[in-house]
Amino acid sequence: TERVSKNFIEDIIDKDIAEGRTKKVITRFPPEPNGYLHIGHAKSILLNYGLAKEYGGQFNLRFDDTNPTKEKTEFVESIKADVEWLGADFGDRCFFASNYFEKMYEAAIKLIKKGKAFVCDLSADEIREYRGTLTEPGENSPYRERSIEENLDLFERMKNGEFPDGSKVLRAKIDMSSPNMNMRDPVIYRIARMTHHNTGDDWCIYPMYDFAHPIEDAVEGITHSICTLEFEDHRPLYDWVVRELEYENPPKQIEFAKLYLTNVVTGKRYIKKLVDNGIVDGWDDPRLVTISALRRRGYTPESIKLFMELSGVTKSNASSDYAMLEYCIRETLKLEKKRVMAILDPVKLVITNYPEGETEWLDAPHNLENEALGSRKLAFTRELYIEREDFMIDPPKKYFRLFPGNEVRLMNAYFVTCTGYDVDEDGKVTEIRCTYDPETKSGNGFEGRKVKGTIHWVSASHAVPCEVRLYENIVDEEKGVYNEDGELNLNPNSLTVIKDALVEESLKGTTEVEQYQFVRNGFFCLDSKDSKPEMPVFNRIVSLKSSYNP
Ligand code: ATP
Ligand code: MG
Ligand code: MG
Repeated sequence: TERVSKNFIEDIIDKDIAEGRTKKVITRFPPEPNGYLHIGHAKSILLNYGLAKEYGGQFNLRFDDTNPTKEKTEFVESIKADVEWLGADFGDRCFFASNYFEKMYEAAIKLIKKGKAFVCDLSADEIREYRGTLTEPGENSPYRERSIEENLDLFERMKNGEFPDGSKVLRAKIDMSSPNMNMRDPVIYRIARMTHHNTGDDWCIYPMYDFAHPIEDAVEGITHSICTLEFEDHRPLYDWVVRELEYENPPKQIEFAKLYLTNVVTGKRYIKKLVDNGIVDGWDDPRLVTISALRRRGYTPESIKLFMELSGVTKSNASSDYAMLEYCIRETLKLEKKRVMAILDPVKLVITNYPEGETEWLDAPHNLENEALGSRKLAFTRELYIEREDFMIDPPKKYFRLFPGNEVRLMNAYFVTCTGYDVDEDGKVTEIRCTYDPETKSGNGFEGRKVKGTIHWVSASHAVPCEVRLYENIVDEEKGVYNEDGELNLNPNSLTVIKDALVEESLKGTTEVEQYQFVRNGFFCLDSKDSKPEMPVFNRIVSLKSSYNP
């Protein structure tokens, strides 16, 4: 279906196509392989992939690995897996910027030959002093007028390792009085003896981001190079590079606002500290918003896509609410997933008029709103477990669940009336007794009387013991993400582990990482890391109640 309104990037692309500048749209996602991807990166991935798909174009994954110090092969693998999981199909177009080092070197020589680049011997501090300020123009470097021959010779010798690290740089010769600081003869190559994860020790000179990135884009035939707003000031330099290098169909840089989520931690530095201090269980801890954590928690690619659609593509920074992400997962799961019964805080319920040792297999639909999900058989027995909070000895008004003398429906089963209970010395209920009415079996069309409450249950003899993990925000939302010292305000209750939960027998031995609605308790997903066939572990993705109104 045709979208009602297009975002500003689509408007630009439409115009480029209409005016013949673009034939086939080619976009890319260019992560630096220096960490795990987070929800913000998902926005860029889905935006770039979505545009390529919408216009019948191409989407590239390109590792921007021109800065060897922080890069690791481990991150390359996790990034690929995340991009694939999101459904952003890059086919065989996974590239590495480092594969273009030779081309970048040649590009630098081309600039030198055009008199557009020079080797400069100023130190980093001196370069900064010469650069001027926002209100003062800069001053030309004393090395700016070196001859083309001398520059070619020096640059080659830089490459050959004749000079120590930091002793010389190659700079673009643009304009030291430009109001844009990025245009004041920016450094485009530096000497640094660093081992690169891909090219090893082949190079001792490395290109700077602002020079390398436009070349990477041009080499791949990228038509629309989409990046975030902080690069807006760099666009004149991007345009200068592709113009001076005389690319035939130069790529165009377009900036959009980063996705920010309120009250979440995305900074690598902070997450690393949480991991190192053992506060979270790795980069995929379900309380984090790395893509691997969201996946482990039970978020689906569809839910993340919906979230990105709702949050839109804009030119101005604004935060999106985490509750909106929760809304998206509820919306995408509620009709698609099975609804099963699990008891998080079990208390025994004995049906005194039900024959001992008997098991009746009741037919129960998986999702009343989606017949295609079929049904399962549920074991109904004399002894069941129900949620502790579904029984009260002395209930307040409007409590329609179980209490002495009251009748409720057991979901998918019978009406039961509470006839008694036991408590231990602390007053804690240890057992509830009731009688059932065989006439009231679910699906029999019993109309004799109505009850106000329906509660869920599992069979004591058939239910499967499981572990359930409930999550709250890792940071204290009242206090805000950071305290005065710039440290995180941690929420001490961000994880609740329930070791003695019970789930209905239909999930016995399950190893499939799958989402379910546990009726009345929320949406859950099997934990991919810690779950075992004999002891499944379920993460609560989100509760059923929403604080978000679309
Ligand atoms: P971080 O420091 O959070 O890892 P980054 O910008 O250093 O972010 P890169 O690997 O350089 O990470 O990012 C790859 C791409 O993802 C870039 O095009 C970048 O603009 C984009 N990106 C990063 N963060 C966000 C965000 N919050 N929202 C949208 N796009 C983002
Ligand atoms: Mg990064
Ligand atoms: Mg970056």
